[in-house]
Amino acid sequence: MIEIESRIKHAAVDDTLRAAASALWKRHALTLFDPHDERNGLRVSDAGQCVRKLYNLVNGTIVDTFSPEVQLDNLDNGTMVGCWRACLLAASLEADGFVVEMEPTVEHDGTPGHIDLYFHEPEWTKDLGEAAVIEFKSTNWTGALDHPEKSKRYQILQAAKYAAAKGCDDFAIVTVGPAARGAKMRVDWFSLGDWQHAVIGEWLRLSAALGPVEPDGDPDFAWRCKGCAVEWCDKNPEYAATDELLVKRLEASVNARI
Ligand code: SF4
Repeated sequence: MIEIESRIKHAAVDDTLRAAASALWKRHALTLFDPHDERNGLRVSDAGQCVRKLYNLVNGTIVDTFSPEVQLDNLDNGTMVGCWRACLLAASLEADGFVVEMEPTVEHDGTPGHIDLYFHEPEWTKDLGEAAVIEFKSTNWTGALDHPEKSKRYQILQAAKYAAAKGCDDFAIVTVGPAARGAKMRVDWFSLGDWQHAVIGEWLRLSAALGPVEPDGDPDFAWRCKGCAVEWCDKNPEYAATDELLVKRLEASVNARI
């Protein structure tokens, strides 16, 4: 296994590697905030998502919306922090002769996605040699860094599916936190062999979102219901059984059958 944390930290202060990372950043940051392609099915990043919400996204009944706080402080911050650390790691790996792909588009069993970083040994080694998928996640909860047992299952399933798409066994999740004390980054390695059955089970569960009937909501965390655009779901904190919402639900159900 490569040493991820020490490579990133070294590249952050080494003039040559930092310049190489900066060049990568200028190339890859250009597309950081491009909108997603139009949704017409599942994505790898849907791991852990509620099937009822997905059903409505896939059928165009709702569009994903976030509060400004979630967008700015979680999603946008996480995207930028993750990309910069990926650039530092990529610069370090490339300097040692590894082949690195950043944000490659992949497809596994018909489900598309984008990997943060994938690397393998050079082609002349005849096989991929050391190869892995690396995903970068940010968190505002410092406890995430201190408690590896609280690794988010949906993040592992997402990264495992990317590893399956690339045909490599190893994958890692780099969690970057705002810790005011101690380490601000944690690296957890996983093996696809340990997770492939869970990946199959997860995408079987998610396939209910592609069926003709609106499934029941099954969020893995209650926070997924907060601000959910499926206003007619009784698990939604904004839910109120008004006639208007019942009509919306009926329309969604009819539209999905057309
Ligand atoms: S409110 Fe919760 S259970 Fe209902 S659709 Fe949204 S995420 Fe799913």
